[in-house]
Amino acid sequence: MELNLSGQFFGEQSNEDALQSEVQKMIVIGGGPAGLSAALYAARAALAPLVFTGKDLGGQAASTSTIENYPGFPEGVGGTEISELFHKQAERFGAKFLFDLVTDVDLLQRPFTVTTESGVFRAETLILATGATPNHLNVPGEDRLMNNGVSYCATCDGWFFKDKHVVVVGGGDSAFEEGILLTHYANQVDIIHRRDEFRAGAILLERATNNEKIQFVYSSVFEEILGEEKVEAVRIRDVKTGEETVHPTDGVFIFIGHTPNTQLYKGQIEMDAKGYVVVDKLMQTSVPGVFAAGEAADPDFRQVATSVGMGAAAAIQATRFLESE
Ligand code: NAP
Repeated sequence: MELNLSGQFFGEQSNEDALQSEVQKMIVIGGGPAGLSAALYAARAALAPLVFTGKDLGGQAASTSTIENYPGFPEGVGGTEISELFHKQAERFGAKFLFDLVTDVDLLQRPFTVTTESGVFRAETLILATGATPNHLNVPGEDRLMNNGVSYCATCDGWFFKDKHVVVVGGGDSAFEEGILLTHYANQVDIIHRRDEFRAGAILLERATNNEKIQFVYSSVFEEILGEEKVEAVRIRDVKTGEETVHPTDGVFIFIGHTPNTQLYKGQIEMDAKGYVVVDKLMQTSVPGVFAAGEAADPDFRQVATSVGMGAAAAIQATRFLESE
């Protein structure tokens, strides 16, 4: 097994052709923490995994400004920075990366087939690590004003709201973490939540409460996002009194949970009612030889640390699976 493949597969058509002509031992779908960790473990088991990262490396972690709860980084670490470190480490041991989007998979017969925008690839084992996507509010104005004041990523868009007034929707850790980040740019951040109790953990709750730029609006749901060319206000309704108010704002940041990116596997593999891939404690799915890791298979923890652990476990189990054959 050659392990000196570092970097040479990026965007090189001839290498893509070579990769398509042979059956891979493992294909990893997804370039977030779960996929990159699986790639590292599989590479160190000399499986030379082929990893499809999609268009961006790092998944949701890459759009997080600072990750403060990943062990080993007492001062925190940037989301992009840690993704690049994961990538570099996997590549060093022979993982092969393609920035290519998977459009179809066939899990019904082995070798499994993975179709991407640039070709058709085959593998003896698969690790599904396609993560999850932020949920939308689905209110009038949201889609029309997306990227014109409506955002799902404070790290990406916060800078555009320097000295402005923004609202954050949601009451979980994401809403609080991103709301606090937004105070680095905006003058005022209103966290608008549909209940009068928050899900966010104690530390974030305390930080937000002590931040004088943050105000809270309780028991209010969104009816509409208003504005012609860009966001100008939101119309919200107090669920206790029924009263509707127009709340002026320059931006709306929405953090109301996620949906797993598992549509590709629908009908081919067992999933729960919300579309999360069902795995056992060995990260095995209902299809022998197919493993899943990270947020595509995890409705409960959704941490970089837990996704990395799942990715490592999936690769170890896939290695055992291949050895047992
Ligand atoms: P979450 O915990 O599921 O919270 C989603 C929030 O959005 C809830 O407050 C929910 O309200 C609200 N919501 C859902 N649908 C809504 C709708 N249609 N309209 C208005 N509000 C709506 O999601 P999350 O904050 O993204 O966190 C997900 C997981 O990641 C959690 O386990 C969290 O602990 C973890 N996480 C951890 C960190 C960290 O440790 N630093 C950071 C980010 C995320 P209700 O409360 O009324 O249901």
